[in-house]
Amino acid sequence: MPLTVRQFPCLSDNYGFLIRDEASGKTACIDTPEVEPVLAELKKAGWGLDYILNTHWHPDHAGGNAAIKEATGATIVGPAEVRRIAPLDREVGGGDVVELGETKLQVIDSGGHTLGHIAYFDPASRMAFVGDTLFALGCGRLFEGTAEQMWDSLSRLTALPDDTQVYCAHEYTASNARFALSVDSSPELKARAEDIFAARERGEPTVPTTIGLEKATNPFLRAGSAGRFAEVRAAKDAFKG
Ligand code: ZN
Ligand code: FE
Repeated sequence: MPLTVRQFPCLSDNYGFLIRDEASGKTACIDTPEVEPVLAELKKAGWGLDYILNTHWHPDHAGGNAAIKEATGATIVGPAEVRRIAPLDREVGGGDVVELGETKLQVIDSGGHTLGHIAYFDPASRMAFVGDTLFALGCGRLFEGTAEQMWDSLSRLTALPDDTQVYCAHEYTASNARFALSVDSSPELKARAEDIFAARERGEPTVPTTIGLEKATNPFLRAGSAGRFAEVRAAKDAFKG
């Protein structure tokens, strides 16, 4: 049975995601960027909430944990670092499996943006929830980890099937596209950037993306080595576009 996803905007550029295992009706929310939009989306869907699945400790990802748990009774699952700012019921890390009814989400270590960052992958529906590790045409800033750590994390994500739907936590794609065009002139990237600018003009989300599309056009993934990746990341940090 498939996993159903409901995606909705939170804060200025975050996305919230509710996922539901259709076989059992078990529901989870990926991160807690904001309280009211998450509760409103649950109400709209007519769903209860069984789990909160955190990707990392940043306030736009775990800040709503306490209030959403209080409102729904959900169990909070995530990396230990979440405890820095929010409640956590079950600690998980790379290699663990989180069961949501019949859905078995694989936990992937994706440290770099924060040291303990994790992603969740459902092999059955080929969906990955990657927080602030991989973005459409971008990747997370290295607030805590090294370029080597992030490169290894991105390599674990690019090892997923090409048709994996990648649910990134932010709508950063238009500005990522402007940077990408400054470092790469491939026709595939140019065509994709035009599609992105047009979609944003129409107010449409550019998330989810896919592993295959990112491998073909994302300048961070195309870096090819941790050393070159570090250079591209530094160039993006300095980019004024
Ligand atoms: Zn973050
Ligand atoms: Fe974030």
